[in-house]
Amino acid sequence: MATVDLKNINKVYDNGFHAVKDANIHIKDREFVVLVGPSGCGKTTTLRMVAGLEDISSGDLTIDEKRVNDTPPKDRDIAMVFQNYALYPHMTVHDNMAFGLKIRKFDKADIQARVNEAARILDIEALLDRKPKQLSGGQRQRVAVGRAIVRHPKVFLFDEPLSNLDAKLRVQMRAEISSLHTRLNATMIYVTHDQVEAMTMGDKIVVMKDGVIMQIGDPLTLYNYP
Ligand code: ADP
Ligand code: ADP
Repeated sequence: MATVDLKNINKVYDNGFHAVKDANIHIKDREFVVLVGPSGCGKTTTLRMVAGLEDISSGDLTIDEKRVNDTPPKDRDIAMVFQNYALYPHMTVHDNMAFGLKIRKFDKADIQARVNEAARILDIEALLDRKPKQLSGGQRQRVAVGRAIVRHPKVFLFDEPLSNLDAKLRVQMRAEISSLHTRLNATMIYVTHDQVEAMTMGDKIVVMKDGVIMQIGDPLTLYNYP
């Protein structure tokens, strides 16, 4: 179970810039929600507030009806996949995936089981001993997703995860992430500036512009919007 609610969420950066204005989003358990809009409209800021990587200026963020505004990121039961993959270059694929569990003091056998399971799900079992620089872009992206999967989080956050991939791979990875959503039964929030990506992947689409939510709806409803 994981519902996520943003209630009147605002973000004003230290320099006074009002990046997110009164955002209200209700995300149901297991829903795949896409935040879409042009560069600079506040998508990443919104996602980072959900992750706890950015302070919330005002409003209430709740996960499963518990207010988490002041809960540190590591206690939020959330895992995030970044645009630039954010892999540790000196660590192997295995160690990249294991790292988040090690620092959370999971025991060795559990870490091994979770890494093996994620590698199997993502079809990267043959790459476990490689370093990131020995991987293709698509393979790196899989490792980044694997690092989130091993945590077994209730909520997955994706920040433009496919934007560094070529067009063909991007289409393939869209389908893979959609099938992962079905398989893991998790709630997912996905940020993209690509409208086609939003329409093909989202159960619910949140359209942002200049820090404001303009529309929320399912792909069909939005498609028919005048
Ligand atoms: P998007 O993800 O939609 O491209 P962002 O959430 O990254 O947009 O940024 C929204 C706006 O907030 C942009 O105008 C950006 O320049 C601004 N912004 C982002 N980070 C900061 C910061 N640390 N300080 C001030 N302004 C910021
Ligand atoms: P099945 O119905 O085939 O058992 P599950 O929904 O249990 O499917 O999940 C498929 C695989 O994904 C299983 O190996 C399960 O352990 C794993 N899995 C389930 N939920 C998560 C999660 N939140 N994070 C990572 N792996 C998960």
